[in-house]
Amino acid sequence: EIVNFNQFFNRIIDRFELSKSDHVSFVRMLSDNAYYVDIDTDKLTQVIDNIISNAIKYSPDGGNIRFGVVVSDSILKVMISDDGMGIPSENVDRVFDRFYRVDRARARSMGGTGLGLAIAREMIEAHGGKIWAESDEGKGTTIFFTLDILTEEEGEWD
Ligand code: ATP
Ligand code: MG
Repeated sequence: EIVNFNQFFNRIIDRFELSKSDHVSFVRMLSDNAYYVDIDTDKLTQVIDNIISNAIKYSPDGGNIRFGVVVSDSILKVMISDDGMGIPSENVDRVFDRFYRVDRARARSMGGTGLGLAIAREMIEAHGGKIWAESDEGKGTTIFFTLDILTEEEGEWD
């Protein structure tokens, strides 16, 4: 399905904003530019839902969650960052492994199975994109993923 990515992304953020607790604030850094991508919207919704759920789950009181989209060379790079506990640098790539969770004790109290990011990686790679994390322990985490933007020749949306 061909969608305007920022519009699609904003709708998902809206849905979380309506139900989230007040311990976190959302900060959108999204332009009105139209970038068209050809995606499985159900799968991408699942990917973004998991990243946002993690950001909320691991955010401290008063934390901000920032949403950004950067474009270069017809690649769209999506960023979702939080001010949470972060991930130790030696584990930052392992969070995409199935069932991997940073700290078992902490993980148990937080709920979840450790599958969310593994599924996200599978889905983003199936779309030809990449997904990765950058994190500063104690300061926060940013999850990035990329998607190809449709060029005018490929798109038949107008
Ligand atoms: P599930 O998504 O299956 O409910 P989960 O959230 O534990 O469970 P993943 O989403 O795959 O699993 O994340 C794997 C692990 O990576 C988490 O258990 C957590 O330790 C760490 N992690 C993921 N996102 C963040 C984040 N934003 N801040 C800190 N740690 C994170
Ligand atoms: Mg998760």
